[in-house]
Amino acid sequence: MLHPLFTPEHEELRTAVRQFVESELAPHAMEWEREGAFPDWVFKRMGDLGFLGVRFPPEYGGQGGDWGHSIVIGEETARSGSGGVGMAIAVQSEMATPPIFKFGTEDQKERYLAPSIRGEKIACLGISEPNAGSDVAGIETTSRRTSGGWAINGRKIFITNGVRADFCLLVTRSDRAAGHEGFSLFLVDTDLPGFEVSRKLDKLGMRSSDTAELVLDDVNVPADALLGEEGRGFIEIMWELQGERLIGVAGSVAGAWLVFEKTLQYAKERHAFGRPIGSFQVNRHKFATMATELEAARQFVYDTALAWERGEYPVKQISMAKLYGGLVVNRVMNECLQIFGGMGYATETGIERAWRDSRLIRIGGGTDEIMREVISKSLGVW
Ligand SMILES: Cc1cc2nc3c(=O)[nH]c(=O)nc-3n(C[C@H](O)[C@H](O)[C@H](O)COP(=O)(O)OP(=O)(O)OC[C@H]3O[C@@H](n4cnc5c(N)ncnc54)[C@H](O)[C@@H]3O)c2cc1C
Repeated sequence: MLHPLFTPEHEELRTAVRQFVESELAPHAMEWEREGAFPDWVFKRMGDLGFLGVRFPPEYGGQGGDWGHSIVIGEETARSGSGGVGMAIAVQSEMATPPIFKFGTEDQKERYLAPSIRGEKIACLGISEPNAGSDVAGIETTSRRTSGGWAINGRKIFITNGVRADFCLLVTRSDRAAGHEGFSLFLVDTDLPGFEVSRKLDKLGMRSSDTAELVLDDVNVPADALLGEEGRGFIEIMWELQGERLIGVAGSVAGAWLVFEKTLQYAKERHAFGRPIGSFQVNRHKFATMATELEAARQFVYDTALAWERGEYPVKQISMAKLYGGLVVNRVMNECLQIFGGMGYATETGIERAWRDSRLIRIGGGTDEIMREVISKSLGVW
């Protein structure tokens, strides 16, 4: 039975995305992992196929869909077997571009949103800084008015797509004295003088996605680079983070399901002490627990997406779904690697890659601890 988030039309999209991912992306998982980035053509190809703007209206090249379509893309890109691909695509179409659609001018939508949906421009999102990650209000990158626009100074770190992006949606402080009302967002072209990729970070997982540290040294942007309202950037980026968390956990849970299924199959075929290893009660019970928890996490994600689709702004549920989903995904990956034994530790099965990739869900876009902060505040304890 389909969850009410989905219709048969969503399932048609699922079939098309799955076909594309399995035939054109999955065969390269190992190679892109080694190379430290998947090639740029993936953005263009997915743009051509209409997979980068499923929730945006047709006038900008999108498909006019809903959260169900976005969840389908998030889940199916997990089949690439490379968490970095799904993450980079989600940054492009579910993190850096929704604020342009929601807060941008028509001109900004023409110049940044439409080409991103076509896969012609690559987008990145610059929130985190060397001295401020969880504490977004602690960022130090400044924007200062000049005669012709704004001058931006600061550093950003952990920026997905940052090495190759054409533009960055940047969070800045435009008025330190104004507290939370002193933040402003900008759309910054990465070829402007003073904009530099200072390094590409090496990392545990998500290795097929590039992660940059950026330096902005007096980057002069025109007045129309301001996205949304001056001073409203904090509230605007908090809105963005909700979608980021929802789509992030949807992809992670889908990735864990795939590893679960692969492990289940392995446990039926692999023998020890004259029996399939899956028949040992300890492993049977592990599978039962994992399936139960994964199903609960998946349904939680779907219910939350449906609530948003129906007009709620479900911040508490999103935080809970990300917290719970992340914990379940990490437990499942750990158990699956254990059940695979040495072959789980060996690169060739892809299990160790999935295990490494999956660790990020409990950190990126807001850590477990920050999710608990949001949830506990909603319960009236802080
Ligand atoms: C691969 C990767 C890709 C990323 N992509 C992007 C991107 O595209 N754009 C972007 O802007 N950012 C990106 N990030 C950054 C990511 O969102 C941050 O790493 C995350 O928000 C945590 O911030 P931090 O790393 O600075 O940790 P910190 O904020 O330094 O936290 C360190 C530890 O302290 C804990 N802690 C902090 N505050 C509290 C508290 N109040 N109570 C209890 N514990 C607390 C945290 O939970 C954590 O365990 C990415 C990160 C990675 C690793």
